[in-house]
Amino acid sequence: MSIQENILILRKEIPPHVKVVAISKTKSVLEIMEAYEAGQKVFGENKAQELHSKYPLLPPDIQWHFVGHLQTNKVRFIAPYVALIHSIDSLKLLQEVDKEAQKNNRVIDCLLQFHIASEESKFGLDLEEAKLLLNAGSCQKMNHIRIIGIMGIATFSCNPDLIRNEFRTLKGSFDLLKNDYFRGKDEFCELSMGMSGDYQIAIEEGSTIVRIGTAIFGERTYL
Ligand SMILES: *Cc1c(COP(=O)(O)O)cnc(C)c1O
Repeated sequence: MSIQENILILRKEIPPHVKVVAISKTKSVLEIMEAYEAGQKVFGENKAQELHSKYPLLPPDIQWHFVGHLQTNKVRFIAPYVALIHSIDSLKLLQEVDKEAQKNNRVIDCLLQFHIASEESKFGLDLEEAKLLLNAGSCQKMNHIRIIGIMGIATFSCNPDLIRNEFRTLKGSFDLLKNDYFRGKDEFCELSMGMSGDYQIAIEEGSTIVRIGTAIFGERTYL
């Protein structure tokens, strides 16, 4: 199936209130342009360097999201244009984003990344760490970032009950933070969960943003 056909199928299947981020990591500018021409305007990358080199080659009305582990020394590459960083996992990183956003005269939207999977390797905060971050005085003073929700990656598994439970836990954390830290703040409304293999479950559990790579672009080959 072509990239264009994949996008049309997804658009029929995914309810209109759920945003689709096309995850284009490892994919070429030509493949990204094929998706763009099918109407996809929001793309995500997981490496700052890769995004930095693709960005100037692609149309300026693309909204770029960053979904991978972000090192503080790479923030400056993407700060001039990134629309949403899904992967804030420390106060230090948030401070760096705030600093670089200020240099660029911008406010950058961010999600806190939660660790929900049973695998060790996935980055992210637990609920206590997220509260510590939000309680930090320095967090409340940052004027060039806006925390608009949370993100999580489920276990890579074929057990739908396991995945559903992880998404349900993430939604529970979202609701708790909304109530305790963001009550009345309409901007805190995004729950980024669901990838090619599990987006249907994620949407049933309250996702507002799905991050889809393989189901749009096909399998990735890492060189
Ligand atoms: C690669 C990636 C995705 C997309 O994965 P697919 O299974 O190809 O849809 C989503 N989120 C993150 C954080 C990723 O790194």
